[in-house]
Amino acid sequence: MKTKINGSSSKSDTRKLVKELRNANLFMTMSEIAQKANISKQRVFKILKQEGLPTKRKIKKSLYACPVCGTVSAFKFCSTDCKRKWRQIKIVCTRCGKLFTRDTKQFLRNYRHYGGGAFCSVSCSAKWIGEHYGFKRFPNHISTFMKAKQGVRQ
Ligand SMILES: [Zn+2]
Ligand SMILES: [Zn+2]
Repeated sequence: MKTKINGSSSKSDTRKLVKELRNANLFMTMSEIAQKANISKQRVFKILKQEGLPTKRKIKKSLYACPVCGTVSAFKFCSTDCKRKWRQIKIVCTRCGKLFTRDTKQFLRNYRHYGGGAFCSVSCSAKWIGEHYGFKRFPNHISTFMKAKQGVRQ
């Protein structure tokens, strides 16, 4: 027959704390838990065994925090989606100012192609090229063009 002993609240608090520390940080050693809970390492070991929790800490080497989303997994990137995102860089469109992402390799290729401009879309690059190269040779046309544009809006 089991007799239920009314343990002091501090005892169950310690147990709870040990459980919480272990669950919160699997890399923590037993002596680290003991220090935080202010109990002996032997007590920590006993509690962990009783609770069916790992007494040995996990080896950090085998785990990575995904540099994109922070998810801890056995791989550097938690998913292929994150791997793809990691290779992309954020760029501000030279023409419309919109923030967009591009694969780094693809971007460097286009960047050279457009002589220093970065564009979110084909239409932005086409407009920009039209505006810069199309009117550069005839500067007077820019003001004519702007006036015409404003006229259309009103
Ligand atoms: Zn991720
Ligand atoms: Zn744009």
